[in-house]
Amino acid sequence: MKLKEGTVRLSEHVRKFLKDKIEKDEEKIVDLSQAKPVEITEIRKLMPCVADPSMSRIVANMTPPLGGILKILEPLFPRSRYLDKKRSLMIQKDDIIITIYSSGKVSIGMIKNETEANKVLEELRNTINEAIKIGVVPAPGEKLKTEVMEIYRYLPQTNCGICKEQDCYSFAVKLIAGEATLEKCKLLKEAKYAANQEHLQVLTAYI
Ligand code: SF4
Repeated sequence: MKLKEGTVRLSEHVRKFLKDKIEKDEEKIVDLSQAKPVEITEIRKLMPCVADPSMSRIVANMTPPLGGILKILEPLFPRSRYLDKKRSLMIQKDDIIITIYSSGKVSIGMIKNETEANKVLEELRNTINEAIKIGVVPAPGEKLKTEVMEIYRYLPQTNCGICKEQDCYSFAVKLIAGEATLEKCKLLKEAKYAANQEHLQVLTAYI
């Protein structure tokens, strides 16, 4: 077929790339009236938590997936953070970190047992479904400010000095003052601090 001037023929690969991109962009729809009540359909894995082997990490599935609607649910939870890059909503609940992905996957770390996991998942489902039922989420309110000790609690507390600070507490003070970023603490990249990193990602949204 002869191409018109100024046009190019797309390879299958490029065509697929563009189709995926358009579908992803369409996921930005954020009207709660389009959301359907969610159900937890399965708990796929129950495995030891990397951070603390006496605790578990569970992976469940939420259907239908919330897609772009997930972003506007952030104000439903007092301590939560939506990460655009991962298209996921992280929620901090005491020592537990819940991550809901736009695909429907739900990951919960630092869970004591299956009973606790079921309770957390049920509360999560009820909170989301209540908002869907009334069709609104609270307006983003004033955020609870993070305290230095909250940050310190989730730092590795080795006082190794890799971040160029005297100790972890000093690093927490700098972080709260906006004079340091989490990336400076290289230890947080270690698998055993994965849950700490997740907590800190939520907490730093409240500085
Ligand atoms: S690099 Fe991390 S663990 Fe080491 S002193 Fe700084 S904050 Fe603490």
